[in-house]
Amino acid sequence: MSDHPPFLIHPHIRARTVPTRPTRRYSFTSLLREARRQHTGWEPAWPKAEPKSSYDIVIIGGGGHGLATAYYLAKLHGVKNIAVLEKGWLGGGNTARNTAIIRSNYLRPQSMALYGLSHSLFEHLSSELDFNVLYSPRGLVELAYSRQHMEALSRTADANRHFGIKTWMIPPDEVRALLPLLDDGPHKRYPLFGGLWQPHGAIARHDAVAWGYARMAARLGIDIVENCEVGGIGMIDGRVTAVHTSRGSISTGTVLVAAAADSAALVAPLGIELPIEPVTLQAFVSEPLKPVLDVVVLSGAVEGYVSQSDKGELVIGGATDRYPGYSRRGAFNAVEDAVASILELFPALSRVRMMRHWGGTVDITPDRSPIIGKAGPDGLFLNCGWGTGGFKAIPGSGYATASLMTSGRAAHVVEPFGLERFVQGLLIDESAASAVVH
Ligand SMILES: Cc1cc2nc3c(=O)[nH]c(=O)nc-3n(C[C@H](O)[C@H](O)[C@H](O)COP(=O)(O)OP(=O)(O)OC[C@H]3O[C@@H](n4cnc5c(N)ncnc54)[C@H](O)[C@@H]3O)c2cc1C
Repeated sequence: MSDHPPFLIHPHIRARTVPTRPTRRYSFTSLLREARRQHTGWEPAWPKAEPKSSYDIVIIGGGGHGLATAYYLAKLHGVKNIAVLEKGWLGGGNTARNTAIIRSNYLRPQSMALYGLSHSLFEHLSSELDFNVLYSPRGLVELAYSRQHMEALSRTADANRHFGIKTWMIPPDEVRALLPLLDDGPHKRYPLFGGLWQPHGAIARHDAVAWGYARMAARLGIDIVENCEVGGIGMIDGRVTAVHTSRGSISTGTVLVAAAADSAALVAPLGIELPIEPVTLQAFVSEPLKPVLDVVVLSGAVEGYVSQSDKGELVIGGATDRYPGYSRRGAFNAVEDAVASILELFPALSRVRMMRHWGGTVDITPDRSPIIGKAGPDGLFLNCGWGTGGFKAIPGSGYATASLMTSGRAAHVVEPFGLERFVQGLLIDESAASAVVH
C-alpha cells in the first residue's frame, strides 16, 4: 500500500514511449548469460558522449536533479535533443555524498506536494529505471526531547494528516520499542517526550539513483557528457543562445542550471542574484555491524542522525559547518559533535570504529526550500538551492521541472518555488523541517 494520497501519483509509467538506443535491459536471463561468460559482455551503463555543437536543451550539472529532469523530459515530453553537462563525474556533487534519507513529513503544503510526489515515485523507481536503487522503506523517527519540540512535531503530524501523508506522534514507550539500544534512563540530560513517526520513511542507494537516471536518459537518446565544465551562459537580446564549456561552445535556446552551489556563480554574469549560501556538510560511515538498527533516527536536540545500511555500516550525519565555504573538507569540530551526539543517544556504540567520512557543499536558501523556475533571460531555468535535503526530492523535482519546462500538467508542483518568492515575500519556510533533519 502506498503511503501517499492518490492525487500525488501521476500515471507516468503509462506515458508516451519514445524509441530507445539499443541498450540491453537488466534481467535474470542477462545475469545468467553473463555469469556463463565471466561477465565479459556487459555494455557501459551509459555511453561517454562527445558534446555536439547544438542542442534543444542543455542541462548544467549531472547530479540527481539534472539527470532526473533530463530523463522525464525525454520520457514524458518527447524532447530528446538534450545534453547533460557535468564538470566532473556523475553524481560527484552532493548526490553521491548524502546519507540517502527519504521522507515527506514537511510542514508547508507546497513542500508536502513536492516531497510527497517524490516519495511516491521513489517507491517504484527501481522498476521505472530497470536499476536497483536499493529503496528500503524501513520507517523514520524524529525524537523530541522537550515539550516545545513535541508541539512543533505535532503540528507537522497534523499538517501531514490533513494532506494525506501518513505520519503520527508516538509516545516514549513506542520509541523505546523501535530503538532498543536507545539510552534514555533517568540519568540522561534530556527526558524523552516521544517522536514523530513516518512508517514509510526510507533510504536508498544514492549513486544508484544518479546511475539509473543516467542510463535510462542515455537509452532515450540524451547525451551525458562528463568532464565538461560550463564557464558561462551566452545571451543575446534577452534570450539564452549558448553555453561556453571547457570543450567548446554549444548553441541552445534553453538552459537548465542544476549545478547546486555553483549555480549562483553561473548566473551572476546574467544579472541574476541567487540567495544561496554554500556550506559544508559531512557524513560518516562505521565499520559493518550485525543488524542493530532497523529504522532511521533523527534528533534535532542532539543534532545528529543515524541509519544502518544494508551492508551493516552505520551511516551518521550531523550539523553543517557554522560558516560558509566551498571546501569539501569540513571542520573537525563537526566530526566530533556528530559522533558525540550519536553516543548521547546510543552509548552502546562507543567502541564502534568509524571507517571513513567526507563532505559536500550544500546550497542553502534563506527559507530552506529549493529554487525552481524561470529566471532572467528567456530560455533560462533554475533547479538548485536544495540544501541539506534534496536527495529525497530527485524523482519529484525532475518530474515536475520537466513539466514546467514544457508547460506540462505537473508544473504546478514546482511553481511556488520560483526565485520571485524572495522578492514577493512568499517564503516557504522549512527551517524547522530541514537543517540537521535531512
Ligand atoms: C553529507 C550530506 C548528507 C546529505 N544527506 C541527505 C539526506 O539524507 N537526504 C536528502 O534528501 N538529502 C541529503 N543531502 C542533500 C542532497 O545530497 C542534495 O540536496 C542533492 O544531492 C542535490 O542534488 P543536485 O543535483 O541539486 O546537486 P549535485 O548532486 O551537487 O549536482 C550538481 C552537479 O553540478 C556539477 N557542476 C557544478 N558546476 C558545474 C559547471 N560549471 N559545469 C558543469 N557541471 C557543474 C557538479 O559537479 C555536480 O555534480 C545531503 C548532502 C550532504 C553533502
